[in-house]
Amino acid sequence: MNAVIAVRDAVMAYAGGVRALDEVSLSVRDGEILAIVGPSGSGKSTLLNIMGTLDRPTSGTVELDGNDISRLSDRQVSALRGRRLGFVFQQFHLTDGLTAAENVATGLLYAGVPRRRRHALAREALGRVGLAHRTDHRPDQLSGGERQRVAIARALVNRPALVLADEPTGALDTANGAAVLNLFLQLNAEGTTIALITHDRSIAAQMPRRVEILDGRIVTDTHTGHSA
Ligand code: ADP
Repeated sequence: MNAVIAVRDAVMAYAGGVRALDEVSLSVRDGEILAIVGPSGSGKSTLLNIMGTLDRPTSGTVELDGNDISRLSDRQVSALRGRRLGFVFQQFHLTDGLTAAENVATGLLYAGVPRRRRHALAREALGRVGLAHRTDHRPDQLSGGERQRVAIARALVNRPALVLADEPTGALDTANGAAVLNLFLQLNAEGTTIALITHDRSIAAQMPRRVEILDGRIVTDTHTGHSA
């Protein structure tokens, strides 16, 4: 299978000598679901930002769809990110005044899709996350679990090559968190490639591939069998 994203020997160094990432290599293949797990301060967000092409590493390479992003301009990287990646955050980041469908349609704003088509695709994506009956509700009329499902639909609406989810159950109670996790597993079974970042080992334990990060280094990758 092809690598959707390949990070090689990535170092992220900050002033003062902090190495938030220290020679990290990680590939995600089409069709995978994995958890990147580690305690607070281990480098998860830094790695997510690099995988999401939001930051460029101090050294090392990042390839998205086989494109070495160091060879692309910021504008080209933004365009590639918009087409190929979807993001889900702990705090949903929905717009209050918009309906669920309108929020999801914002995921297509930069994709050059005409307005009518955007709305149809948004409804379809809401159907995929089990919210076909909530398309016209605004965020304040939805539960936390439903809001996160709207955010997941927004991440999916553009059919991204990879969904990056940063602590997606962190703001949810146990039942809603479990439902969101099951949704990710179901979406993966339907073909969506997903990397989920979490500090919660019980969440990571439910994923077929687990990558453990500690002090900016990958210490375990159940896929490669790497274990430090
Ligand atoms: P996590 O997401 O696992 O909590 P982070 O990636 O946020 O970890 O941080 C990893 C390390 O890098 C921490 O020691 C953090 O303090 C440091 N760090 C993160 N961002 C910066 C920054 N902008 N400047 C300096 N140090 C940073």
